Amino acid sequence: GATIGILGSGQLGRMLAQAARGMGYRVATLSPGTDTPTGQIADHEVVADYDDLDAIASFARDVDVVTFEFENVASAATDVAARHAPVRPRGEVLHVTQNRLREKRVLAAAGLPTAPFEAVDEFRGLEAAVARIGTPCILKTAGFGYDGKGQVRIDAGTELEWAWQAMAGGPAVLEGFVDFEAELSVVAARGLDGELVDFGLIENRHADHILDVSIADMPVGEALEDDARQIAATVMEALDVVGVLCVELFLTRDGKLLVNELAPRPHNSGHLTIEGCPSSQFDQQLRAVCGLPLGDTLRKAPVAMANLLGDLWEGGEPDWVAALSDPAVNLHLYGKAAARPGRKMGHLTAFGTDRDDAMRRVMVARSVLKGA
Ligand code: ATP
Ligand code: MG
Ligand code: MG
Repeated sequence: GATIGILGSGQLGRMLAQAARGMGYRVATLSPGTDTPTGQIADHEVVADYDDLDAIASFARDVDVVTFEFENVASAATDVAARHAPVRPRGEVLHVTQNRLREKRVLAAAGLPTAPFEAVDEFRGLEAAVARIGTPCILKTAGFGYDGKGQVRIDAGTELEWAWQAMAGGPAVLEGFVDFEAELSVVAARGLDGELVDFGLIENRHADHILDVSIADMPVGEALEDDARQIAATVMEALDVVGVLCVELFLTRDGKLLVNELAPRPHNSGHLTIEGCPSSQFDQQLRAVCGLPLGDTLRKAPVAMANLLGDLWEGGEPDWVAALSDPAVNLHLYGKAAARPGRKMGHLTAFGTDRDDAMRRVMVARSVLKGA
């Protein structure tokens, strides 16, 4: 059978590898780590840095298609890989989405709404940018941020030199603060022939800037749902994505959608599609990058997902029996060696009679984990 090559080795690669093996593919992963969440599932684990171009070339030679779950792979590496195997999505998609400024410029050029933003390349420009955007606003590093790392909120009294220190030398993007009603996401997939599917509007609740809970089928009405789908379709086509991409959105208090950021891969908020849909976001990624027709995204029943962070391990191993005493609850663990506070170790999914019931069940299951 064919071999899927995955750059990166975290839980997203693990769940892709599980989908791939379920369909009879072989899986190879390349990352600097050993005994990784993806490597545990893969047939073949290559240990190399993402800038080791010789290792990337020989990895690509040995697989039939290269995809990724780690999005900070440099263009030099995806270019080298592309000489030996198709890279899907193409390297340009990573290049744009790994930098907030490039990403926002592509969004603006496609006519998509975002919060007001300005590039801030050095400290000298910050004061004037804050004056133009107004407070409150958020200063974010242009590259390498996740789970809210590398961003600071600036209010009227905030010491700008302190804020700039968090940018580790810049460059950065300054964004207007959005007083949102809710945070939403659309996970979409696009096939080799341009076929498009999406999983509808997922509601996301964060705690300490880390995704905490996601609930499928946010009831915002048909008009907004169509808008969100249209935004996702526009992004997929503008970037010519083959694979899965998530659009993170803000729903403003006056009922408008703004794009927050893009993730060119399956997304934490889409984990509820594993049980929730006939073809999960990982099945779709696999199908898309392998040039297969896409699968059905129909929601089987109301469903919610809660992340399990390392903090839950502080008092010892969590009480899995208690969490699974509700048969509507499913457990996923990512095989990470050490539990650290804030580290994503796994997630729970629950079905319910409606959204509130699904949400309640998944929260109850998580709350009883710290039994002892
Ligand atoms: P991740 O990639 O893990 O989703 P990230 O570090 O790339 O996170 P963002 O998604 O940009 O960061 O921001 C993290 C969270 O901070 C958002 O989900 C939202 O809750 C809040 N946030 C970010 N930007 C804004 C904004 N302009 N206005 C209000 N809240 C914001
Ligand atoms: Mg991000
Ligand atoms: Mg985000």
